[in-house]
Amino acid sequence: MTIICLGLEGTAHSFGAGIMTDRGDVLSNEYDMLKTTQGGIHPREASRHHTELGPMIIARCIENAAIDYNDIDMIAFSRGPGLGPCLRATATMARTLALKLDIPLVDVNHCVAHIEIGCLESKFQDPVTVYVSGGNTQVIAFAGSRYRTFGETLDIAIGNMLDVLGRELGMGFPAGPIVETLALDGSTFYTLPYSVKGMDLSYSGMLTAAKKLHSEGVKLADICFSVQETAFGMLAEIAERAIAHTKKRELLLTGGVARNNRLTQILEGVAQRHDAKFHRVSSQLAGDQGAMIAWNGILQYNAGHTIKVSESNVLPKWRTDEQDILWRD
Ligand code: AMP
Ligand code: MG
Repeated sequence: MTIICLGLEGTAHSFGAGIMTDRGDVLSNEYDMLKTTQGGIHPREASRHHTELGPMIIARCIENAAIDYNDIDMIAFSRGPGLGPCLRATATMARTLALKLDIPLVDVNHCVAHIEIGCLESKFQDPVTVYVSGGNTQVIAFAGSRYRTFGETLDIAIGNMLDVLGRELGMGFPAGPIVETLALDGSTFYTLPYSVKGMDLSYSGMLTAAKKLHSEGVKLADICFSVQETAFGMLAEIAERAIAHTKKRELLLTGGVARNNRLTQILEGVAQRHDAKFHRVSSQLAGDQGAMIAWNGILQYNAGHTIKVSESNVLPKWRTDEQDILWRD
């Protein structure tokens, strides 16, 4: 019998509902992102967005999968890490559905879900993962029954850095894709802080320096070009070290910033140098969405894990390496 799982994602500004089968088929994947014209994400506004649109997105997801509520065998939800109010809004919907339909509830770590959906798509067994998004920047690999963070940002995430830069320089939101396009016309490289500290990195100094270049009248295209080359070069350095150290043969790129072609090109080069396979997660599965939560829920459920509603409190600071990975040896 096929297991059908509805996964709800709502760690930050996106709310998503996705339906997957235990065979790895995505039946439907619907999401909507709160867009702000000014300022970053306010947790309260984002959670209101999820509460208001969530039920409709879930209904649309079920309709597009051509199933009925009663065909759903289990509910998975993003328990963390993320913004508290957003996590709580999403968890409330997941608990309600699990109780109403009387089916199991499974709690999913958002970062782990990004890796596992990437493994499903690429058929990778044991990759080094570069997970880059609006809220996270991590280089992760499996070791000793957990996903270990080999390196990560010490301050802001790379996507956040691009978005804040975009906002301050008047590019619009989300700025990542705009920076990528503008950078194609850049030709002069300006030195920016290259902050790799051991296996970790930092992007806030670069943001300050890039804003300063702008105030000095440097062309936007050259700023974008310099930011990309420096920011991606830093990531490549720690990804390369993680591959050399772990001797793994697969490199996976995921998260919203994985949509960037220049970053992909640089990491492809890293993989080639180490004779490793490379995969960039497809655009529809790279960003925050419910299918990855559903898939990870199925993996956990098949490994014998469910959670009681009464114990399903959200975990805003749930780290990638704080979850036992029951489904891998
Ligand atoms: P996520 O947090 O996974 O939903 O991803 C959203 C982030 O991805 C935002 O910070 C975007 O600016 C960023 N992003 C999306 N497309 C691109 C791109 N082509 N290049 C760089 N960043 C991107
Ligand atoms: Mg994410």
